[in-house]
Amino acid sequence: MQLYELTIKQAIELLKKGETSPKELLEALLSRIEAIDSKVKAFVTVTADEARAQLGNKTDGALSGIPLGIKDNMCTKGVRTTCSSRMLENFVPPYESTATQKLWDAGAVLLGKLNMDEFAMGSSTEHSAFFRTCNPWDLKRVTGGSSGGSAAAVASDMCLGALGSDTGGSIRQPAAFCSVVGLKPTYGRVSRFGLVAFASSLDQIGPITKTVEDSAILLNAICGHDPQDSTSAPEDMAGTPDFTKQIGRDIKGLRVGVPKEYFIEGLDAEVEKINRDAIKQLEALGAELVEVSLPHTDYAVPVYYIIAPSEASSNLARYDGVKYGFRAEGASDLMDMYMKSRSEGFGAEVKRRIMLGTYALSSGYYDAYYLKAQQVRTLIKKDFHDAFKHVDVIASPTTPEAAFLAGEKTSDPIKMYLSDIFTISANLAGNPGISLPCGFTKNGLPVGLQLIGKHFDEATVLKAAHAYEQSTDWHTRKPAL
Ligand code: GLN
Repeated sequence: MQLYELTIKQAIELLKKGETSPKELLEALLSRIEAIDSKVKAFVTVTADEARAQLGNKTDGALSGIPLGIKDNMCTKGVRTTCSSRMLENFVPPYESTATQKLWDAGAVLLGKLNMDEFAMGSSTEHSAFFRTCNPWDLKRVTGGSSGGSAAAVASDMCLGALGSDTGGSIRQPAAFCSVVGLKPTYGRVSRFGLVAFASSLDQIGPITKTVEDSAILLNAICGHDPQDSTSAPEDMAGTPDFTKQIGRDIKGLRVGVPKEYFIEGLDAEVEKINRDAIKQLEALGAELVEVSLPHTDYAVPVYYIIAPSEASSNLARYDGVKYGFRAEGASDLMDMYMKSRSEGFGAEVKRRIMLGTYALSSGYYDAYYLKAQQVRTLIKKDFHDAFKHVDVIASPTTPEAAFLAGEKTSDPIKMYLSDIFTISANLAGNPGISLPCGFTKNGLPVGLQLIGKHFDEATVLKAAHAYEQSTDWHTRKPAL
């Protein structure tokens, strides 16, 4: 086994025993990036020098010497943070995001910044202003998105783990497409301070890892209340759990809800079969399957595409070419400078979202669109609340199909938006959700199983996911690169 193939857990153990050193581990990963990132194209920036300088800063932390990649929408002090946008192509933040600071405080090392859809808007990483990241299992196919760089880098062993962000599925959907584990924590579990805002009521940072246990280890490091983010949950609400504690416990008697609205037309037959087998496997492990209903599922995508663009249109108003970011040349006056900077700095999908959002929020349309969407969001939340009276977790496919071909959906935004049909509801309702590998199609493409939990009950989600993972060998398979 190569050092770069280690899980975080294995690396921590080897380092403890002195069987490898942080320096050796870091160099193994940097060589791996050097060898294969020209094919996968996961990194926007590789921070080799900074990583070498960071080594040995802290030798007794929970993550000492563990090299990680970070999605390029989390501010890293002194390291370019682009959001894969021309708008922020040369933006070097003067401060560090809370989630990443917590990783460095625990001794982890920054390997580099990972590609994404521009401003996290997309489901394929094709909307990056720089380049498309390729799926390590089939380079012609997409990685999913928007955290496609993070998922691809972990899947191809270019970092031991990564952080992504999930507004409507951006951690879970690429994790499913790349055969890795992606966890979106409960809204409020992880501070959003320093995460470049897309849709503030939905955005959440979470780990992308090779195993469920690694996911628990990273969540331990990044969670917690942060006075700098007023939406981060206080301790009396979120607790201070050790997410590795439940790992390894059996799931006898665990009630697993299977939503009838999720096994529908449009779900690929092979993906459905693989997911149904995975759910049967949970039953074989002692779980009790219960059919549940989430009656407002059909509205999730339309509601999301009112609320997320509305919040985005407001959040992205700050990119005006004045304070920071891209400024267009040759403007005749201030208004012209704003218009030129925003026209040239943003890509097509970002502009589409800004226009949708501005429209939905404009007077005369606000009640018909934004307000109505907020009301339906409440009904979607209630669906989960009601279902969780009867079950401990909800199981479903992560995506309606396996990774699609590059270019297949870029000309049809609605098709692209439907990629997130099973993941979006958990963001609207704020619940935690994980995607983990549960098989491969006949063409060798990964398929993900999604488990959604009660608010602040990531522990049960991780326990169930780990029990499933350990009873299969999907997580041990590697793409041939
Ligand atoms: N694909 C969804 C979108 O385009 C979700 C993205 C995300 O979770 N950041 O908005």
